[in-house]
Amino acid sequence: MSDSTLAASRSGLDGGAGQRALPGFGRARLPVDVPALEPATLDALAGELATLVGAQAVRRDQASRLSASTDWAHMSPVLEPLLPGGVADVVVRPPDAAGIASAVGAAHRHRVPVTVRGQGTGNYGQGIPLYGGLVIDTSAAARILSVEDGWLTAEAGASFVLMEKAAAAAGQELAILPSTVGSTIGGFIAGGSGGTGSIANGAIWDGYLRSLLVVPCTDDATPVAVPYPENSAHAHAFGVCGVLATATVALRPARRWTGLFTSFPALSGAVAAGEELFDLEPTPRLLSLDEAGIVATYRPLDATALPPDRVSLRGIVTEDSVDAAAEVVRRHGGRVDAVRPRGPAHITSLSYNHTTYRVRKLRPELTHLQCMGPGLTRRRDEVAAIAPESLLHLEGFLTAHGRDWVSMLFLRYDGNDDLYARMERLADVEVHVDDPHTWELHHGRLDAVRAAAARFDPDGLLNPGKLPPADVPT
Ligand SMILES: Cc1cc2nc3c(=O)[nH]c(=O)nc-3n(C[C@H](O)[C@H](O)[C@H](O)COP(=O)(O)OP(=O)(O)OC[C@H]3O[C@@H](n4cnc5c(N)ncnc54)[C@H](O)[C@@H]3O)c2cc1C
Repeated sequence: MSDSTLAASRSGLDGGAGQRALPGFGRARLPVDVPALEPATLDALAGELATLVGAQAVRRDQASRLSASTDWAHMSPVLEPLLPGGVADVVVRPPDAAGIASAVGAAHRHRVPVTVRGQGTGNYGQGIPLYGGLVIDTSAAARILSVEDGWLTAEAGASFVLMEKAAAAAGQELAILPSTVGSTIGGFIAGGSGGTGSIANGAIWDGYLRSLLVVPCTDDATPVAVPYPENSAHAHAFGVCGVLATATVALRPARRWTGLFTSFPALSGAVAAGEELFDLEPTPRLLSLDEAGIVATYRPLDATALPPDRVSLRGIVTEDSVDAAAEVVRRHGGRVDAVRPRGPAHITSLSYNHTTYRVRKLRPELTHLQCMGPGLTRRRDEVAAIAPESLLHLEGFLTAHGRDWVSMLFLRYDGNDDLYARMERLADVEVHVDDPHTWELHHGRLDAVRAAAARFDPDGLLNPGKLPPADVPT
């Protein structure tokens, strides 16, 4: 990227159609009038960081700045034309949680915006430093600090692979983990919502977080322990209300899981079987359903476990509940295609936004919507009338009203106006869309996020551009 492009990304680029504010949707906007940061300020910050956490942890070269400024927003055809959106001026990779806090304090003393980054797998652009400034890469602060009965404490940069291993050594497993198992606990809490285990344990704000050590963006940046339920404000808040230094998250007793691959001739039987499996004992760890058109995109082709012309229902179930699950499948007109002890990893890699990644690789003309609501399964024909040639992916999830499906609906992308118009129409058939094509926070807990931001980020330096002002309707 040339310096002039860097400058353009700082001062606000032309936003393309994604900047249009349509009712309820499409709020991803590039900031305009981003104040320029003085080179002398950045030099002073970089020097101070080198003193605090070591010169080798501080980067200012273009490659490091760019790679610390991207995430998986390119999966969205709405966001992709707006990227890179913003580029870090300085990148620091502290070795531990204390170093994360030191870096936050230094940025505050120099009044430089701070965006924190785990592994950069967030897919809404929530990790992009729209205002430049400092990116704190937490991936080296990755120690597991303790494993107790029911709880694991780790530094923000610990990966799920590491945490599952540590939990397994104590006969336990994580209550919830995303399909991106290489991502970090800090990034998942700040940028994700649920995944494997959510069919039994709900979303990350449903009791998963016993305690968070949150660094306020102030001069002394002394971390504060925030217990549950107060810490729910920090979940899926994109790091705008404090930087997570460590997290204590829920474990469950380990079980012997296996992978169950089943298929059906039609959606209705698979949905009915899946809904009965919501109550299987013990609850599956993951339960995913795909219409045939999605299965056909899964590569490499595994026609035994995933016949491409049938609806696929897959479960991570305990070894001793396989027979009961198979009986449910057969009773609803399905068949068991494979039971694989090593299947859970494969099934995980076909869940949540891994499906989006795989579908778009083969069918780039499609885009994804995150949806919920009875219309998805009960009014599928009407959904198809609004979104012709659409394809449905479902995940079992413990919601506020019990176990239900959450969905990824794939539909043809014919520009933003067309996409947002179809999103509006889906509400008429009882499908609620949670727009995945914006980096602005828009969930129902924004008042709590704003209150936490006022406490932990009084000067508005944390990940600016992601928390809409209070007067913007959400
Ligand atoms: C293929 C694919 C599959 C996915 N599957 C799932 C899934 O199953 N479930 C799910 O919920 N999400 C999923 N995601 C989204 C994302 O991968 C997860 O939320 C992931 O856990 C984010 O972790 P990360 O380390 O990559 O965070 P990043 O992308 O680096 O950061 C995410 C957000 O958190 C902020 N942040 C990071 N660390 C901190 C910190 N220490 N303190 C404060 N703020 C911080 C960042 O600023 C950013 O806003 C998926 C994405 C892709 C591309």
